[in-house]
Amino acid sequence: MRRVSVFGATGSIGESTFDLLMRQGGAEAYDVVALTAGRNVARLAEQARALKPDVAVIADEASLPALREALAGTGIATAAGQAAVAEAAHRPADWIMSGIVGAAGLEPGFRALQHGTTLALANKESLVTAGPLLMAEAGARGATILPVDSEHSAVFQALAGEDMAAVETVTITASGGAFRDWPLERLARATVAEASTHPNWNMGQRITIDSASMFNKALEVIEAHEFFGLTPAQVEVLVHPESLLHALVSFRDGGMIGHLGAPDMRHAIGYALNWPERGHLPVARLDLARIGRLTFSAPDPHRYPALRLAREVMATGGLAGAAFNAAKEIALDAFIAGRIRFTDMASVVEETLDRLSGRESLGKRPGSLDMVLEMDRSARRVAAETLAELAAAERT
Ligand code: NDP
Repeated sequence: MRRVSVFGATGSIGESTFDLLMRQGGAEAYDVVALTAGRNVARLAEQARALKPDVAVIADEASLPALREALAGTGIATAAGQAAVAEAAHRPADWIMSGIVGAAGLEPGFRALQHGTTLALANKESLVTAGPLLMAEAGARGATILPVDSEHSAVFQALAGEDMAAVETVTITASGGAFRDWPLERLARATVAEASTHPNWNMGQRITIDSASMFNKALEVIEAHEFFGLTPAQVEVLVHPESLLHALVSFRDGGMIGHLGAPDMRHAIGYALNWPERGHLPVARLDLARIGRLTFSAPDPHRYPALRLAREVMATGGLAGAAFNAAKEIALDAFIAGRIRFTDMASVVEETLDRLSGRESLGKRPGSLDMVLEMDRSARRVAAETLAELAAAERT
């Protein structure tokens, strides 16, 4: 039986993965090794009772007694803490879903690659913070990374059997998020609730807000550059409000291959789960005659400063991606907590990168996990200082 683990099992990606595993035979068809969550004990225990993993791991240490109680008598081992989550990635598995949100997803994915597994990578932060490290580790250990972000899965599918030397550009599409049509001057007053609604996709809160600010697309541009080995100039973004065409690859003979599908992550997850085969998946089929038309436009740089910041990060290279992501996570936390305005997020990230730009380490190639984690911590500290100064300036 195929051995599978799901990291971030209780999140939006994790639930879709759980749904597909259950539809494809559940515990009868898969030897489930590990399921992990952040703090949602009740849901993790329900999933564990259904999929019967060897171990269920909760990142929040205080939740261990509750998890133990919820799984008493099942024979499923339990563990808690961030280190236990990373430890679970050392348990041999053939296929692992990397579905934790944020930089916390990096270490488990990296550990899994060290065992030569197939890593279904939804956690885009891994490639943004440590792309060269992960790609080198996968190459050295004979591991396979399959992209799960819908745009990157689309590019991966469009590239099947193609020669990378014939690729001119790769275009990933963006819905434009919740505020695509808002007047620019209204953006500063956008609330957390308004930013947490996506026009087409049903996702976790953090990625939904990142879609409204385009920080999500900024991360994806860097992710595409790292994963497919493209130059920054080869990665383009197109606003496509319908979210049906996920990506386009343009070749040197003038041809373009695009990937269309309903906005349902179970396609990209299922593609990675069944790869290299194509299994039957429970996603809606597109009726293009009814849809009638698809629309496209160039992203407005004034509305989406995050895209410019991504270009600067790629130009710097090295650990700049780790700094960018960490600053973005701090700024996003502050917005969710009501401490800063929606438009301040980009300012905090830009200011953090500016302050770090004098440091020689910023452009250094990420040669180890420790280097990445150290830059992550530094950038969080600098972003927190930037936030404190912003708050002080507002008070005066
Ligand atoms: P969610 O917030 O819905 O879920 C995150 C998961 O990670 C949950 O299981 C959560 O546990 C767990 N988690 C949170 N913090 C920690 C931590 N510190 N340590 C261990 N586990 C933790 O996120 P999404 O599913 O939306 O996104 C997951 C990843 O996939 C992100 O990187 C995102 O960018 C990417 N992605 C998501 C898409 C989507 O459609 N949602 C599409 C493409 C990419 P708990 O539930 O207990 O909090």
